[in-house]
Amino acid sequence: MQILDKEIITNQKLPVMEDFYTLQGEGFHQGKAAYFIRLGGCDVGCVWCDVKESWSADAHPKFSIEEIVTRANANMPTFVGKTSHKLAVITGGEPLMHELTNLTQALKNANFQTNIETSGTHPLSGVWDWICFSPKKFKKPLPEFYTRAHELKIIIYHKSDFEWAEGFASLMNENCLLYLQPEWSKAEEMLPLMIEYIKNNPKWRISLQVHKFLQIP
Ligand code: SF4
Repeated sequence: MQILDKEIITNQKLPVMEDFYTLQGEGFHQGKAAYFIRLGGCDVGCVWCDVKESWSADAHPKFSIEEIVTRANANMPTFVGKTSHKLAVITGGEPLMHELTNLTQALKNANFQTNIETSGTHPLSGVWDWICFSPKKFKKPLPEFYTRAHELKIIIYHKSDFEWAEGFASLMNENCLLYLQPEWSKAEEMLPLMIEYIKNNPKWRISLQVHKFLQIP
């Protein structure tokens, strides 16, 4: 397993696959305007991954922390920066392959709320307002996410995934919100099962990739 830049280093640079201002389409914060920063690098290997281009960190240009935060501020309306609704979502790839203390501190200094989407397969670094933990069958997560996550998001690809989801639900802290989300290509097949499952197990909520229905990034 390769850790890409675990040292907290001065002049740290991070590989950015893409960054854009859009609406968060999934989970608890669904519907909110958010600035997404998609970092390159992932060693989880989900067969149904819809961002396989993110897997190689070396395939993406590296930017300094200052450049990343400057781009975020420049790519959203200036008045948003004066409100309390300034949200950055760090995703990937698997963003925790990188040491994220510097980036999250700089985002917080610029008045961003910091949210992360992670598979939980690398140690947590960074200063986070919200941790969305989305474990995958292809690489075992670390137990620290059971206590630290605000949101558990399980992707339903096959009907056997409900039982797998329950295994994680039983491990999570009592305040953690529980979401089931259909894998996009299986949504038509899985959604009827999911609706019935949640009706019978109401501790779960449904998460849909609303940005895909809206055809926005
Ligand atoms: Fe793709 Fe995310 Fe799985 Fe990595 S963890 S392979 S980026 S779906």
